[in-house]
Amino acid sequence: MGDPVRALPGAASGGADPASLIDLDGAHGECGGQWLRSALTLSMCTGRPFRMRHIRAGRERPGLLRGHVASISAAQAVCGAQVQGAELDGASVAFTPGEVRAGDYTFGVGGAGSCMLVLQTVWPALMGLAEPSRITLRGGTHTPKAPPFQFIQRAYAPLMDRLGAVSELRLRRHGFHPMGGGGVDVNITPAEAGRLQPFDLTERGPLRAAYAECLVVAVPRHVANRELDTLANSLGWAPHQLHVPAVRQNEGPGNALMATLEHEFATELFTAVGEKGVSAETVARAVSREVREFQVSRAAIGPYLADQWVLPLALAVWRSGTAARFTCSALTDRALAHIALIRRFLPCHITTEPFDGGWTVVVSP
Ligand code: AMP
Repeated sequence: MGDPVRALPGAASGGADPASLIDLDGAHGECGGQWLRSALTLSMCTGRPFRMRHIRAGRERPGLLRGHVASISAAQAVCGAQVQGAELDGASVAFTPGEVRAGDYTFGVGGAGSCMLVLQTVWPALMGLAEPSRITLRGGTHTPKAPPFQFIQRAYAPLMDRLGAVSELRLRRHGFHPMGGGGVDVNITPAEAGRLQPFDLTERGPLRAAYAECLVVAVPRHVANRELDTLANSLGWAPHQLHVPAVRQNEGPGNALMATLEHEFATELFTAVGEKGVSAETVARAVSREVREFQVSRAAIGPYLADQWVLPLALAVWRSGTAARFTCSALTDRALAHIALIRRFLPCHITTEPFDGGWTVVVSP
């Protein structure tokens, strides 16, 4: 099988003149909010300006949503960028980055916009500096189509830490869909001399722990019991693996079901957020399906972590000149579009090859 990224629009390597504007067209189905957020991150880290047109053109509500505008503002604050077009529903943005500065930052997203996605926009830029940063976030922490707080803390942050810049995260308040209003504090301590050290992640290693947590706030308790029972029946998990953590009742309403698999070399976390009109059983079946799909592969990480990990890894490879690889159980169209975007900014090579039902992604300088 060939390299699927090569077939994507705009997949040619970036290389070229570092000062030249990168022209991005978001008119393809796979080029969603992540494309924009990652372009911001890559622009901050490389100093290369970009313009993106037809933002999220293929989506039901195209253009910039509140969370996207918040990510652009966060990136602008961190590097003093010149920005044009960062408006709600806007279809194009021009971003000319300045110098990335460490510091104390506060970023908020209104409504159910995910503040975890805002964090992921600026984190790779801040971790490459010589000084520490503190970030106070307000917004959604458990929202559909975004990583929940625990995913960032248990799955994403440990990989970022292994690059050399250690983080600390604290959930002050949950922010559920659709109200948002959560709070998270993040400290990022830079790597020694700002040096990031890429590493291979090809095996997940033996399973150390597996457990499920059901968050329910101002939602009947039987919803939690049904979600956990359905998940446990489907995965063969025992009662001691099922938890209903205490959440302050003024932090809702909301519901999220999370299953965590702690392996020796990587932790994965699969989530479904409860929504009005979706039964508890449907929420649980969505999570158990994702757990089973991951378990049948031998890959180190799952599809969401794969599409998020490739960017910080590519930055570390580019800065250090050292190649690294990882295996994942699936490469989504989103991940492939994301890889094509990274190739536009960084002069590194990213190749994909089949691996035991999943994929190996190799990033070389
Ligand atoms: P986009 O839809 O383009 O704004 O991107 C959404 C981002 O959220 C991607 O990086 C996904 O990997 C991530 N994401 C979506 N759902 C989940 C989930 N259940 N767990 C972890 N990450 C998620």
